[in-house]
Amino acid sequence: MSGRTVLLPRSNKNSVTLPQNHSISAVVSILGNPIEYLKGVGPYRADLLKKELQIFTFNDLLNLFPYRHVDRTRINLIRDIGPDIEFIQVAGRITSVEVLGVKSSRRLVAELKDASGSLELVWFQGIAGLQKLIQVGAEFLVYGRVSFFQGSPQITHPEIEVLVKQPEGQATLEPVYPTTEKLKVKGLGGRQLGKLTQTLINLVKERDVPENLPGHVLEYMDQEGQPQRLLGRWEAYRQIHFPTRPDLFQQAVHRLKFEELFLAQVRLGMIKSKRHRYSHGVVFGQVGEVFNKFYSEYLPFELTGAQKRVLKEIRKDTGSGRQMNRLLQGDVGSGKTIVALLAMLLAIDNGYQACLMAPTEILARQHYEGISALLKEMPVQVRLLTGSSKSKSRKEVLEMAKEGELHILIGTHAVLEEAVQFNNLGLAIVDEQHRFGVEQRARLWKKAAIPPHVLVMTATPIPRTLAMTAYGDLDYSVMDELPPGRQPIVTVHRLDDRRPQVMDFMRHEIAKGRQVYVIFPLIEESEKVDYENLLRGYENIKAWFPEPKYWISRVDGRQKQEERETNMQRFLQNDTQIMVATTVIEVGVNVPNATVMVVESAEKFGLSQLHQLRGRVGRGQEKSFCILLTSPRLNKEARERLNTLCATNNGFKIAEKDLELRGPGDISGTRQSGMLNFKLANIVQDRELLELAREMAEKILDKDPDLEASENTGLKVFLQTQHGKTQWSKIS
Ligand code: ADP
Ligand code: MG
Repeated sequence: MSGRTVLLPRSNKNSVTLPQNHSISAVVSILGNPIEYLKGVGPYRADLLKKELQIFTFNDLLNLFPYRHVDRTRINLIRDIGPDIEFIQVAGRITSVEVLGVKSSRRLVAELKDASGSLELVWFQGIAGLQKLIQVGAEFLVYGRVSFFQGSPQITHPEIEVLVKQPEGQATLEPVYPTTEKLKVKGLGGRQLGKLTQTLINLVKERDVPENLPGHVLEYMDQEGQPQRLLGRWEAYRQIHFPTRPDLFQQAVHRLKFEELFLAQVRLGMIKSKRHRYSHGVVFGQVGEVFNKFYSEYLPFELTGAQKRVLKEIRKDTGSGRQMNRLLQGDVGSGKTIVALLAMLLAIDNGYQACLMAPTEILARQHYEGISALLKEMPVQVRLLTGSSKSKSRKEVLEMAKEGELHILIGTHAVLEEAVQFNNLGLAIVDEQHRFGVEQRARLWKKAAIPPHVLVMTATPIPRTLAMTAYGDLDYSVMDELPPGRQPIVTVHRLDDRRPQVMDFMRHEIAKGRQVYVIFPLIEESEKVDYENLLRGYENIKAWFPEPKYWISRVDGRQKQEERETNMQRFLQNDTQIMVATTVIEVGVNVPNATVMVVESAEKFGLSQLHQLRGRVGRGQEKSFCILLTSPRLNKEARERLNTLCATNNGFKIAEKDLELRGPGDISGTRQSGMLNFKLANIVQDRELLELAREMAEKILDKDPDLEASENTGLKVFLQTQHGKTQWSKIS
């Protein structure tokens, strides 16, 4: 894997250069060899393998895992093909071959006959090559997904190869690899790649694939206290490609999945432990006047237990002399803002400045207004800086920040600009983290000689397993408690034809003095249609709620900044009772008087997004409602999303479900790193294995944080050879 980026220049073909970061043990291993030197490959196929499958070295091929195995002794009869068999393997003789159709429907059609019946084979690509291979009268073994065309079975683009009689009674499992059409045409189909792996496996010695797990990890006690043994590394590679027994194959998969997860956890753990031991941080040694005065006189409510706990964690980090790098996970409405404010006051008490970044202008302004109001009577200087700050006030803010007169700067990513300099920034807080890129956040670091403490607050919870892999190098706080007095939001799913009743309900709530959101989807791919829907929906609602009895705000991304702001402000001040908007208001907006959230075309939203939207209501003492409107035509997954949302208000549960439904790749708020793209393991399905890997990695690093012990040498050397594979940024 480490050789992946190494392309040998053509002129240099015969001298093997190795990547700089290879350690000695990798240099002697045959696995670093360029793939063209494997018998049966050569320069032409090597180019294809590189382009199509990113296979550059022997090692890359070794790590191309089969997606299934063929048991040649298990051959179906064509007669047995029925609707409940999806994939079949049949053997028979070709009775006809012809090319039909023209242009895009040009295809090669062959008939395959066995003792029980006949089957049609169809190809749209690679016709010329196949015509040579497939001759009438020849016998083939064929594998593929069956479909029915006008009642008769056929396979489109089957895997096909000349039938060779198998020795009786011996079941061998042959690997089939993921491949591409281009490779298939050049004789490197899913099964043919197996010939190359066979050659490779025969060539590779055990010492080329040294064990990288320490002995006490290979032999471990499971959660029930039963001794377990993982398959050795070399054996695992052999078995995953060419299993000799089904149970050994299972063990091989298990071992290699564990290895992936474990190595990732060790890497993350080492980064974290290095930061804990060596990073310098400014010290917030005392809780002073500012914090105490605010806490005793102006704090508008009693903190929840979770808020207190997180504050303690922050105090401990910031007082330790090392840099804090903490992820704060809290459900929507759990009260992260006040925690941020108190942490900033702590910074001020210790002579440092603080900065709070929000992803949108609306949010930054809202934080600014909320925090300024809370600090009205306090000797604390707070300013706002956004893209639309006027140049005069901007200049003043920049000067104050630089001179140290400014205590708290609140803003959008405008605060990241070069021009923004602090006298002594001690704490940087990033709110609603998923809108900010890694790079952007890393820029905060450079704003002080000693990097400021960093607190990253998520908009919605991230499942534990995901957090463990994507943010495993950060310290981690959870606020799993809502402020008291909150009533769960009543969530219902209604079909479009019930809109009149929904409107009646809105009217009823507005009559009680409450406010209502109506959200329309705006999805990039169908932006135009969505936008028209939004406008139509807006007109429609205006007809139901006519002026001057009712006033409506409209907020969407196409409006001019100013118009959007004005509309937002009017809703915030309760001058308008209804807010019609797209998801621009999704994150963070806080209007405690709003009690109804209506989501139009709710099936178009993701689960976490819906939860986030719902979190805009239920922020005050009043009972709140979320109404999900959809058309009656819903696919299974959409139905499941809606059901989940109606069933629970718990953001952590919803995050788990979201992960399960969508897989790790799509979850917003995850770091764009290779971390989640495991080759074999899957953090949803292999969750227990992940927990185990995490536990074992922690145990090792607790005792031996730099992997100096001789029992951990193999692991350390291996990690060094992998170095450079993943780019680790210092900050989440
Ligand atoms: P989020 O975690 O979603 O950012 P906020 O910080 O916006 O949540 O807080 C949501 C609402 O709850 C705000 O109106 C805030 O004033 C209120 N709140 C926060 N903490 C408490 C508390 N301990 N008791 C009562 N209300 C609280
Ligand atoms: Mg918030």
